[in-house]
This record gives sequence, C-alpha cells and structure tokens, in this order.
Amino acid sequence: MEMPEVIPICYCGNPAKLNMSWSNDNPGRRFFGCKKFGNGFQKPCRFFSWFDPPLTPHARVVLLGLMKKVKTLENARKRERRTWCLVVVIVTVLLFLKL
Ligand SMILES: [Zn+2]
Repeated sequence: MEMPEVIPICYCGNPAKLNMSWSNDNPGRRFFGCKKFGNGFQKPCRFFSWFDPPLTPHARVVLLGLMKKVKTLENARKRERRTWCLVVVIVTVLLFLKL
C-alpha cells in the first residue's frame, strides 16, 4: 500500500489512520479515520475523509463479484479440509477396529 502524501489531522489532533472500507457501497475504497478507532480504551472522534476517489459503478460491480468469488473459494476449501479430516478420522477408527 503506497503512503499518501498528505496525512490529514483528525479532530483529536492526531494524524489520521488510513483504513480500507469493505462495505457493499465502497469495497476496497480507502479512507482516513481517527487512529483511536478500534481501540477499546480511547474514544475515537468522528473524523472521516475518503482517500480514494469514488468507485465507478462498473468497478464496484467487478470488485463485489471478485470478493464473492474469493468467499466462495474459501468456503469450498474449508469444506474440503473438513471432509479430509473426517476421512482421516474414519480411516483411523477402521484401522483401530481391525487391530
Ligand atoms: Zn481522532
């Protein structure tokens, strides 16, 4: 991730932190927010500023499609791993019963 040239200062007076949005409206779009955000001990301010330009409707559709594909593949891999674990357990039990 390249560093932005100008880092805005949030309402607390700290340099803002660059985050990435994963909302359906702005997938992958980066924004500046309070660096205390996500830190349970400190209360973040409401500073918010987009870093990336808005996504074109086409880019949004493409990105959402890709994200969906990644999710599907991840789920398939998880299922596959579960199946293999089950096979190993069954084979182990069968071997154990034969002895
Ligand atoms: Zn702040």
